[in-house]
Amino acid sequence: MNAQQTEVKCDGCGTVFEAIPYAARKGELHATYLQCPVCYQVFPGLITDRPLRKLMRDSSPAGFRAHKQHQAARLKKLHGESLKQMDGWTEERR
Ligand SMILES: [Zn+2]
Repeated sequence: MNAQQTEVKCDGCGTVFEAIPYAARKGELHATYLQCPVCYQVFPGLITDRPLRKLMRDSSPAGFRAHKQHQAARLKKLHGESLKQMDGWTEERR
């Protein structure tokens, strides 16, 4: 039986690779990202800061969930570009 795998296609070089998320942090920011094994392009995933992680730990009715997604989108917009350059980000050991 095959394990469930998610594959993504790299925007940069077109390589299809298995979507294994990596983790990185920059100060209070935590991020998950995917990286192309061929051209090393970084694709930012979820980026969280301390207030957002607290929000995510709280049990979430629908209203909270919308707020959480909004905050995550805002952080990704703010920090996604710097994550692509790994500027100031430190990869975490898995
Ligand atoms: Zn690539």
